[in-house]
Amino acid sequence: MHKLYSDYIFHDSGKILNNYGLILNESGKILEILAENSFDKTEYQYYPGLLSPGFINAHCHLELSNMKGKIDTGIGLIPFINSVVKFRNEEENIIQSAIKQADTEMYNNGIVAVGDISNKTDSIKTKKESKIKYYNFIEAFDFMQNHLSDNFYNEYLNVYNKFESLQKSFVPHASYSVSASLFNKINNLNTNQNILSIHNQEIKDENDLFQNKSGGFPNFFESFGFSFKDFVAISKSAIHYPISQLHHEGNILFVHNTFSSEDDFAAAMKWNKNSYFVTCPNANLFIENRLPDYSLWKSISKNICIGTDSLSSNWSLNILEEIKTIVKYQSSISLEEVFSWATINGASALKMHDNLGSLSVNKSPGINWIEGIYINAQGKLSLDPNAKVKKIF
Ligand SMILES: [Zn+2]
Repeated sequence: MHKLYSDYIFHDSGKILNNYGLILNESGKILEILAENSFDKTEYQYYPGLLSPGFINAHCHLELSNMKGKIDTGIGLIPFINSVVKFRNEEENIIQSAIKQADTEMYNNGIVAVGDISNKTDSIKTKKESKIKYYNFIEAFDFMQNHLSDNFYNEYLNVYNKFESLQKSFVPHASYSVSASLFNKINNLNTNQNILSIHNQEIKDENDLFQNKSGGFPNFFESFGFSFKDFVAISKSAIHYPISQLHHEGNILFVHNTFSSEDDFAAAMKWNKNSYFVTCPNANLFIENRLPDYSLWKSISKNICIGTDSLSSNWSLNILEEIKTIVKYQSSISLEEVFSWATINGASALKMHDNLGSLSVNKSPGINWIEGIYINAQGKLSLDPNAKVKKIF
């Protein structure tokens, strides 16, 4: 049995409370949660700072881990995709060891579960051995070519089948890269039990494409030899295309949403109340040097989660670093809100809340110790820019 306490804990009520104690069994299951003054501190190990449940990384691409440090920052999404395509064919042993290392990095940074995008089978080996729980999004695209959708579908179905009994679903890549025909196949393969994911409104060009067929995408795809001449704009923003194509009442994660308006969030929630909105702030800074306006997100939905995206577009796979970025640039977001995004909400999006995402009796959510929490001059609970996370269970 382990008895511990801290100055603050991120309580399952969504509040940060003072001087709480926890009793865990040997395997990290929470047996008791003790309020201030209800336990004898001398019997408990003290962790100065804050204890939180393990973090949930709602969006990652583990298979791109070998690209760490290879792509320039601030180049914009379209040149970024070009660079990723260039670095995809590295030697198998380099890819495998980078994946393994990234999985260990996430574990050490207190991440207990990951929603991970896979276009290939490279990450299967590490995932089978990992102490982290993965939900695998096998992601398909067909460059918006209806007549090629069968070929692309079969290629990704093959990847999907190789994931065997690992938790998985078959998902669309983004509004600009999936034809109506491929959306139809995706609908037929999944049930409402599956969790879906889609990259959404990461750059302005996505909206330009669907509004009036402008922006960088038509030329970009034509440079790969795919024609956009039959594409007809819908005169609406990009999110309206996938929500008109997908039939899904189960959970769905919209990832990035950097260029989503209030109406876009509202349209998604009206279409499916189980819509979750995932932000990857450091990847947004890395690729586009721009952050979303979270006050807009919050005004429509509480279902906000945090992802790291991949090492091709981030400096590390560390949810605490994402939290720091959010509170640094958008001080109206409280620590309690952002810890909810990083824990409870991610667990609920990935349907892992039975055991993960909150400090609750009978759960084994993992315990993260964060030093560097203090009350600032305005009396507000704050996070030191040098704060570090240590996984203690
Ligand atoms: Zn992504």
